[in-house]
Amino acid sequence: MADVVVIGAGPIGLMAAWRSARAGAAVVVLDDGRPPAGRVAAGMLGPWSEVEHRDGAMHLLMVAASRRWPELVVELEADSGHDVGFVPSGTLLVAGRPEQIAPLRRHGQTVGTLDSDLEWQTGTALRTLEPGLGPDVAGGFVMHDEHQVDPRQAMAALRAACDVKGVEILDRCARALISEGNRVAGAITTRGEQITATDTVMAAGWSASRISHRVPMRPVKGQIMRLGLPAGRSLPVTHVVRSADAYVAPRPHGEVVVGGTVEEAADTRVTAGAVQSLLEEASRLVPDLRELELTETAAGLRPATPDGLPAIGRDTTDGLIWATGAFRHGILLSPVIADAVAGIVAGQPPDALLANFTPNRFAEAA
Ligand SMILES: Cc1cc2nc3c(=O)[nH]c(=O)nc-3n(C[C@H](O)[C@H](O)[C@H](O)COP(=O)(O)OP(=O)(O)OC[C@H]3O[C@@H](n4cnc5c(N)ncnc54)[C@H](O)[C@@H]3O)c2cc1C
Repeated sequence: MADVVVIGAGPIGLMAAWRSARAGAAVVVLDDGRPPAGRVAAGMLGPWSEVEHRDGAMHLLMVAASRRWPELVVELEADSGHDVGFVPSGTLLVAGRPEQIAPLRRHGQTVGTLDSDLEWQTGTALRTLEPGLGPDVAGGFVMHDEHQVDPRQAMAALRAACDVKGVEILDRCARALISEGNRVAGAITTRGEQITATDTVMAAGWSASRISHRVPMRPVKGQIMRLGLPAGRSLPVTHVVRSADAYVAPRPHGEVVVGGTVEEAADTRVTAGAVQSLLEEASRLVPDLRELELTETAAGLRPATPDGLPAIGRDTTDGLIWATGAFRHGILLSPVIADAVAGIVAGQPPDALLANFTPNRFAEAA
């Protein structure tokens, strides 16, 4: 019997498995082989551009996650021998249209970064810093502390690190939990096997609620595209560039990620309309994108709870730990969620901040 069975090998399941194994637990991961949302994700680590209130619990969690990333990269690269694709690029959060200036300036005053208000920069000042920005960029903020990671590289590194730490990753779909009274004792696969463990970690993304209804989840579709550099061209920008309509994330190895839609839908079809509007909005920010090669279009399903906050922590049912519902921030949050899981498995008292994300809030509300 394992100490821990993790259901789902997305960024959060893999990270939780690696952290738990690193702390000495015997870990098994079950994965059904479907591409995780994490494979599609852009990998922006955006605690200031993506929240609305500086002091909310979610913002505090996001900031903690963002500060954890650089140290985690060192540990993960040492364990895996892989480059994780962490790029301290900084982010330009900009107004791509005149009507976006006022709400963006309010956002900067409300949210700030590193506990200070952000300083508004004119379009001209931003173009001096980043000459690839288009003439429509009317101003914005430079966020020196917001970076990015390549989720595909990070997940490859996590798989390698899991391997080094003795985590067994099984190609299996979990159908149900093994229930023993008020206790979960592992998972039952669609082949009928019982994978038993002291603790079961629910990291199956949006489909976690198909296995247990205690945390209601829904998929939120996101479409995205990847552009490649033709021979002899360099990246059109070096910072992540974001507006209310689109984002552009340049990777040093010559890829530019352009995203992303947010749709209440459960399919992963890429639509012509989404590609058109994302390219239109993104090339308003960075006109030279039009010259790049369209190498990939994709859609993924983000895991969202009814209140949009993650579900992290022990269920009132013994032996069950939730680690899902990270919605638009699962790459950013994966280190803090994984550390929380590893701590719970090791019997440590959870950080007080995590009480805001208890998975039991839904059962209590019902
Ligand atoms: C277009 C787009 C852009 C995004 N950009 C960003 C970004 O820039 N920054 C950021 O922080 N986040 C971003 N996200 C969000 C991020 O991708 C998710 O929050 C994150 O992937 C959630 O991780 P997860 O491990 O919970 O779920 P997933 O990544 O979905 O992984 C869950 C895994 O569990 C497996 N699974 C499901 N059911 C079972 C079962 N019954 N048995 C076994 N395995 C199972 C699935 O197949 C999957 O592999 C983006 C998402 C999208 C779609």
